[in-house]
Amino acid sequence: MPTIQCHCGAVKVSLEGAPVAQFYCHCDHCQRVHGAAYVPVSMYRADQVRVVAGEPSMWKLHTTLRATCRDCGTRLFAEPAGLGMRGVMAKLLPEGLFEAQFHMQCQHALLPVKDALPHFKGFPDAFGGSEGVVDW
Ligand SMILES: [Zn+2]
Ligand SMILES: [Zn+2]
Repeated sequence: MPTIQCHCGAVKVSLEGAPVAQFYCHCDHCQRVHGAAYVPVSMYRADQVRVVAGEPSMWKLHTTLRATCRDCGTRLFAEPAGLGMRGVMAKLLPEGLFEAQFHMQCQHALLPVKDALPHFKGFPDAFGGSEGVVDW
């Protein structure tokens, strides 16, 4: 049950229980928001993720709500509309608590990441996706 925090420590977020899924997201929204080719995400039910200190800025890119520290700019988590889930930036987790199960939104990938994990073109089937996998 770790509590994670932003770079400056103003915002703390407690995570209760096991994540629903852990993955790398290659979507074009994550690319824009993080300035990165892809991001490691630990996905929880929204009620497992609680802000316990500080007051992050909550803002939207399209329909996804995103929590960012007002002081240091660390992106803490994102809440896609209508799913009841919060995707926590897995880089903030304590060492050893992130083990990716798949890559998703590979249709937007800037650079293929070739490994043994499944590479879903859009969302995985378990998340309502139906586009299958890419060929890398
Ligand atoms: Zn901060
Ligand atoms: Zn994404």
